[in-house]
Amino acid sequence: MAENNLVYILDGKIYINLTNRCSNDCLFCLRQQKDDVVGTNMWLESEKITAQDVILQLKPHKDKLNKGVTFCGYGEPTMKFNVLKEVAEYLKENYPDVYIKVNTNGHGNFLNKKNILPELKGLVDEFSVSLNAQNKELYNTLSQPKIDNGYDEMLNFSKEAVDLGFKTTMSVVSKFEDYDVNLSECEKIAHSIGAEFRNREFIPNGY
Ligand code: SF4
Repeated sequence: MAENNLVYILDGKIYINLTNRCSNDCLFCLRQQKDDVVGTNMWLESEKITAQDVILQLKPHKDKLNKGVTFCGYGEPTMKFNVLKEVAEYLKENYPDVYIKVNTNGHGNFLNKKNILPELKGLVDEFSVSLNAQNKELYNTLSQPKIDNGYDEMLNFSKEAVDLGFKTTMSVVSKFEDYDVNLSECEKIAHSIGAEFRNREFIPNGY
């Protein structure tokens, strides 16, 4: 059966998987290791999706909306900026208390050739941006960006998000093989931007 699993549930919370496209190709990305998250196949049959497709899949999970909704899947959600925005609009209009978080690689302004952040004010409550490394060299090794200046784009996006008043967290994945992710340096970068910092230890084949 053709599958387009745009919505999945992890630990009782709703996640939205908008795309399999990404401007990074991180060595530690879960999609390098497995096809599913808790049994839900994350590879989309088609990238031609609409906000209505997502909303239809959200409806059976209305009872879980109070735990928040996170845009995070096997790809970069801002690659589908219009769909993301429309789904967030639908959610905020119909369930004003819903907390919306976007996990992003921070390339969204570059990818959409505009500053997407002002359009998401009042729709997105929090961005979690993948900082991944304390410098460009290690970032390029770990995240293998397909765009020029991916590291700087990510830093600028984070700063802009903080300046616009979004709750912003910058995250790293530590203990992946023997890559030297310096947690205190990364934390310093996050705090200098005004963002919070989160370290997630790499869990092989897991979440
Ligand atoms: S940015 Fe996220 S989705 Fe893209 S390759 Fe890295 S971990 Fe995977």
